[in-house]
Amino acid sequence: MKIGVLGAGQLGRMLAISGYPLNHQFGFSGNSNDEPSALLGNMFALEDNKDNIESLVAFADVITYESENTDIEVVREINKNIPVYPGEKSLFTTQYRGREKALFNKLSIPCAPYQMVNSEADLKIAVEKIGLPAILKTATEGYDGKGQFLIRDNGQISEAWQSMNGVESILEGFVNFKRELSLIAVRGIDNDHRYYPLVENTHHDGILRLTIAPAQNINPAVQASAEHYMQTLLDEMDHVGVLTIELFETEDGLVVNEMAPRVHNSGHWTIEGANTSQFENHVRAITGMPLGDTTPTHNFSAMVNIISEIGPTDIVLNMPNAHLHLYGKSERFNRKLGHINITANSKAELDENIKKLKDFLP
Ligand code: AMP
Repeated sequence: MKIGVLGAGQLGRMLAISGYPLNHQFGFSGNSNDEPSALLGNMFALEDNKDNIESLVAFADVITYESENTDIEVVREINKNIPVYPGEKSLFTTQYRGREKALFNKLSIPCAPYQMVNSEADLKIAVEKIGLPAILKTATEGYDGKGQFLIRDNGQISEAWQSMNGVESILEGFVNFKRELSLIAVRGIDNDHRYYPLVENTHHDGILRLTIAPAQNINPAVQASAEHYMQTLLDEMDHVGVLTIELFETEDGLVVNEMAPRVHNSGHWTIEGANTSQFENHVRAITGMPLGDTTPTHNFSAMVNIISEIGPTDIVLNMPNAHLHLYGKSERFNRKLGHINITANSKAELDENIKKLKDFLP
């Protein structure tokens, strides 16, 4: 099939790399030939340039997108002619934190208490209701911890509101978590569901730096409850493709933070670490192919992000069981330029290999 991707970043690039062996072709909406997906398919220009969206749609049998910030109106237009997966409901819900949280509450999925905030006065009331510490986040368009303010005391309310630049925001109670986990799953057009194991994520300055897969010491009941939340969300949104949920592990169980209707950075380990990668499974799902097995290929995997600068990649190339993935992007502060996947048969071997990659970690 011909797959059109709204966006042309590294996620599109890795979708294409996984989709070509299945005999699919790719087209991307992107701004320039410097983008990570540019050499992997036909490029159609800007998303807000309607003519070129039309060309992408004329090219494609099915459309998917790289980001939950994709314009819903564009997706609605496209949907009149060809399918867009994941569908409108998934995109509409996940692009606005308030709708996402309301859905978690409706489905009895534990999440932080929250209040929507449109002014400093609103924020004062929200702080009284929720208590401190609390995190103020922009209601839309937040990623990698951008557009967030941790409020520790009442004296910071004014500063916190000002940092949001007047945009609608959400105040969330601070979750005292032990660690951060994520769950990736895929749902097919025929309602088949597959789940990857929970993984453990370490962030620095709001950016994911390290994923360990599977997360260590996960009680099977915890995996089961994460899968239950996931299945409820997949079915409720009639989701087709990969869905990711980010969770906090607390003393009292799992608390869901947010979700993304797409392949996710915390799933990049699956390229070499699972029988079928998240990318291939997303491609299979949106093209109506049977889903692939999600079982890990090794006892342990890890993914280390390459951020800001490429660094000493020869270390990686000289390591057995390490795989370098670069996205063809130029170096820039806090930009995701690539990642390294490692696989290991024991925890000791994994720890040893992560140590060898210390130059890539903060
Ligand atoms: P987000 O953009 O919602 O993924 O938030 C970025 C990071 O901020 C998360 O990965 C957490 O480390 C932290 N964070 C976000 N929301 C909360 C919360 N309600 N309580 C504690 N930490 C949070």
